[in-house]
Amino acid sequence: MSQQAALEEFRASTKAWLEENFPKSLVGRAMGLEGDADESTKADFELWRQRLADKGWGAPTWAVEFGGAGISHPEAKVIGQEMGKMGAFNPIPMMAGMGVTMVGPTLLEYGTDEQKAKHLRGMASGETRWCLGLSEPGAGSDLASLITKAEDDGDTFKLNGQKTWTSGADISQWCGALVRTDSNAKKRDGISFVMLPMDQEGVSTKPIRLISGASPFCDTFFDDARAEKSDLLGPLNEGWSVVKRLLQHERQSQTQASGSGGGKKTPFQQIAKDYVGVDETGALADGDLRVRLTNHLMDSEAHGLTVSRITAEARGKVEVSAAASILKNSATKIAQGKAELTMELMGSQGVGWEGDNYTKQEIDNVKDWLWGKAISIYGGSFEVQNNIISKNILGLPENTQKG
Ligand SMILES: Cc1cc2nc3c(=O)[nH]c(=O)nc-3n(C[C@H](O)[C@H](O)[C@H](O)COP(=O)(O)OP(=O)(O)OC[C@H]3O[C@@H](n4cnc5c(N)ncnc54)[C@H](O)[C@@H]3O)c2cc1C
Repeated sequence: MSQQAALEEFRASTKAWLEENFPKSLVGRAMGLEGDADESTKADFELWRQRLADKGWGAPTWAVEFGGAGISHPEAKVIGQEMGKMGAFNPIPMMAGMGVTMVGPTLLEYGTDEQKAKHLRGMASGETRWCLGLSEPGAGSDLASLITKAEDDGDTFKLNGQKTWTSGADISQWCGALVRTDSNAKKRDGISFVMLPMDQEGVSTKPIRLISGASPFCDTFFDDARAEKSDLLGPLNEGWSVVKRLLQHERQSQTQASGSGGGKKTPFQQIAKDYVGVDETGALADGDLRVRLTNHLMDSEAHGLTVSRITAEARGKVEVSAAASILKNSATKIAQGKAELTMELMGSQGVGWEGDNYTKQEIDNVKDWLWGKAISIYGGSFEVQNNIISKNILGLPENTQKG
């Protein structure tokens, strides 16, 4: 059977399984943290999570022994496509925080058998949420300046210091943290990556309240916190290599140029027609917006095709490389451009925050637009990605971030 035919067969069986197992009450619900599940859908949401976990579709490309389904990336893409068609979604990567998308893939590469057995299943089922303690008040783009210290203390490391912008730290069970284990080494050499449970005396979190009222990030404090030595990921003092890989996985997970909301959305072209209107030929009435909309759609299509090509060239394995920086920046530009353009299309209706004068779609777009500002910062800023591209892809000399 050809690869294409096998994929179509897989598509048919996926569709049948989804039709049988995806609770209809959840159709089109957002993919937020616990979905936008209210009391009436909570039980269905949990049933759906469990069914996905049992099927190994929380992290479908992981091996079965680690809670995945052991399928290829093209097959996993088919699952996503079929879910999209029926308003279904996979909440597990969201529920696992930084687990499925970042810590997990890095663990698969650097972890010991014991670490894989201990941590991966909890991520793949969405039962264990992970946060990532990398940034510190004095170490963002220049991450190697971090000063959180981990001292050798028998079977454990003793951690002291502060992390910041730790997404979901207050609701996570585990944290992957970058810490200094040798203060005398050159700054990138004395760093290690440790995994530690958040529920312990030495760890406390303080949510950072944003202008929107939400607090998805925390300041995270380690005061004699403990990490088991068996939870050191990769060799001691070689955490810089581990985190570079992890950040590539983070960028890889950020290459899809979608907005922050989930569920079924009105197509962009339809929004344009609804708000701007059409001329007698059926074309968008405003010539300038028509050109910019077309340019955006072409960029978006080109980005999608490039992601597919890079995936295909890697023979179905999503090879994580410096190219992830290019794709992250291009995804950022498209997502931010789309939100900006949608606002313009909507005119004064595109700036609503609350109230009956605005539809859910209009309010959601304002949130997308504001959230979009963060995309060019998290996972390494736009400018820092450009530095990586110039050094690692174009081979230009490095003139910043020495150390
Ligand atoms: C939504 C969100 C979620 C986040 N989640 C987490 C998390 O879970 N865990 C975690 O550890 N961190 C997290 N972060 C922090 C994030 O990694 C940092 O914000 C990011 O690395 C930038 O660091 P900074 O904020 O200190 O900015 P800075 O490093 O101070 O940068 C400020 C500006 O200077 C520019 N700049 C800095 N250095 C250079 C350079 N060498 N060349 C050119 N320009 C430069 C930057 O591009 C930026 O515009 C999150 C951030 C956001 C916005």
